Amino acid sequence: LGGRISSALQKMSNVTVIDQKAVQECINEINRALLQSDVSFKLVQTLASNLKKTVNPDDLAAGHNKRKIMQQAVFNELCGLLDPGKPSYTPKKGKQCVVMFVGLQGSGKTTTCTKYAHYYRKKGFKPSLVCADTFRAGAFDQLKQNATKANIPFFGSGRHKQEASLFEEMRQVSEVTKPDLIIFVMDSSIGQAAFDQAQAFKQSVPVGAVIITKMDGHAKGGGALSAVAATKSPVIFLGTGEHMDEFEPFDVKPFVSRLLGMGDWSGFMDKIHDVVPMDQQPELLQKLSEGSFTLRIMYEQFQNILKLGPLNQVFSMIPGFSTELMPKGREKESQARIKKFMTMMDSMTNAELDSTNQKLFAEPSRINRIARGSGHTVQEVQEMIDEYKRLAKVWTKMKGLKIPKKGDMSAM
Ligand code: GDP
Ligand code: MG
Repeated sequence: LGGRISSALQKMSNVTVIDQKAVQECINEINRALLQSDVSFKLVQTLASNLKKTVNPDDLAAGHNKRKIMQQAVFNELCGLLDPGKPSYTPKKGKQCVVMFVGLQGSGKTTTCTKYAHYYRKKGFKPSLVCADTFRAGAFDQLKQNATKANIPFFGSGRHKQEASLFEEMRQVSEVTKPDLIIFVMDSSIGQAAFDQAQAFKQSVPVGAVIITKMDGHAKGGGALSAVAATKSPVIFLGTGEHMDEFEPFDVKPFVSRLLGMGDWSGFMDKIHDVVPMDQQPELLQKLSEGSFTLRIMYEQFQNILKLGPLNQVFSMIPGFSTELMPKGREKESQARIKKFMTMMDSMTNAELDSTNQKLFAEPSRINRIARGSGHTVQEVQEMIDEYKRLAKVWTKMKGLKIPKKGDMSAM
């Protein structure tokens, strides 16, 4: 998708006279690319007519960066489509909260509810799982297996019955359990069927949030837009694998960047001058282009972040840093956590800080030493190492990056 959109934009910026026709041709090409990315036909139409209204050919002609204006307009439109305008319910500590997971067979409910429970348990909640799927043979056994592995309490029975339709039973379960939140779980690979499927569920029960699964596969992600439009509810997480930890809080902007093939990196590359002090930039980019993300780089980035202040816009542009490390509304807490991580890193040797060998941190004696040295618990050190591994996974994607020369930044 990104490739086609950028070539459409490129074509337009090569045209000498930008008139209504050139803009229309560019929009048509963008439409085709979006349709191929599984964005539903109806949404593509809406998007196209909005684009026509917001993009003024006169602006494009006046020697501005046309590609950039158009790309920004597409970006804004897609972000708008993914934002239903109201946040979803989130569980509150100390209060019982019932979350019901609905979705077609095989969409990933059993896997996702375990991931969700695991995610909230890490945040200090006390989740347990209840199996209410009486349709799929073995559904209870599967939940039991997942929950046991994650050490999460579970309830339910495996009685298999077929008398009511899936939607009718779903409505009944929802009426009896009165969930605080109903999450619609959707397989991202279903393509153009996403809108109708999501709408069918929304018509049966009051869906309040969406989780899109199997984003690690070949799915192009456009279905997420359809699910939001059909349920008028936000996407809250993405499933990115079968494993319990392969689960990401959803953030609109990085998702749209990815969808457009801008990568999470383009925004960052644009803003790198603000994030990283001038004298460090070439060195940092060189290291990242070699694919090495060390603890020392993380430490230096933490220093920069603390200098900028938590509310700095730039922060959300640093790939991997925004949602997990500094969620909105919890900036103070996050800052304290970053400082804590830094004191642990102060107890590490230079060799540890500069190593790219993650196996180093599988050694309990090393973790114990860092914990003792910095006055933290082994779990806290482990949490810092986990954060490092997560960021390293994101940042090593920079490997092979062509380092832009000065002045290239604005061209994107
Ligand atoms: P349910 O029928 O809705 O409960 O779906 P399951 O949770 O049983 O998932 C169906 C299949 O999809 C299983 O093989 C899961 O391991 C797999 N699955 C679920 N979520 C993901 C994901 O995010 N990525 C990948 N690759 N597989 C997933
Ligand atoms: Mg299941």
